[in-house]
Amino acid sequence: MYNIIFVGAPGAGKGTQASTVAQKLNLVHISSGDLFRQALAQGTELGKQVKAYLEKGVLVPDRITIQMVMERLSAPDAEKGIILDGFPRNLPQAEALESALAQQGKAIDKVVYIEVAEAELLSRLSNRRLCRRCQAVYNMVNSPPSIEGKCDKCGGELYQRPDDEPETVKKRLDVYFAETAPLIAYYRRQGKLVEVAGEGGVAEVTRRIVSALREEKLVTR
Ligand code: AMP
Repeated sequence: MYNIIFVGAPGAGKGTQASTVAQKLNLVHISSGDLFRQALAQGTELGKQVKAYLEKGVLVPDRITIQMVMERLSAPDAEKGIILDGFPRNLPQAEALESALAQQGKAIDKVVYIEVAEAELLSRLSNRRLCRRCQAVYNMVNSPPSIEGKCDKCGGELYQRPDDEPETVKKRLDVYFAETAPLIAYYRRQGKLVEVAGEGGVAEVTRRIVSALREEKLVTR
């Protein structure tokens, strides 16, 4: 049972890789962004509270985010180990996570940092499409669906995240560099950081991540 965090800029491929690697290692993929988007789509109280933040591309206040993620972490399936994607996104969230896990006698084992150059991030974000139903991610240039506008996995409708539009993308990258990037040094100091080059095809990056985790003895097969 392992608890792993995936860190990287918007567009680095965290979500795609977290979902694939979680399946391979039999861990539960928990994405704070997906949880927020689901709440928004379902029109829940949480969805109403976070709508404006997501639209602007800024962070949802820690109080709301931490509570939502902690609730998800306390579900029984999280016992088998987790891959966290999009959380923590700043130091207070990292500290809240650490103390919540410590209370249950758990800890973060490794933090996978997926590194991608800024020009590539911009191109990926503008070409990204998501499935409304199952959240699968496509890239219109590198990994388009077989039928235009339809998800290969579930047939759901594909859409562009409103926060992937150019003005919001710029804001999200600024927020990432100011608030989230300091986590890289934080986890490096703890000896937990595993750095992986995020450029290249999806399968190739997955192989790099799994082999880096194998070197760290987190994957034995
Ligand atoms: P993502 O799908 O990870 O790019 O997240 C989409 C949006 O959800 C972000 O731009 C934030 O508004 C919000 N969000 C996701 N995760 C967090 C977090 N850990 N802390 C604060 N806001 C978050």
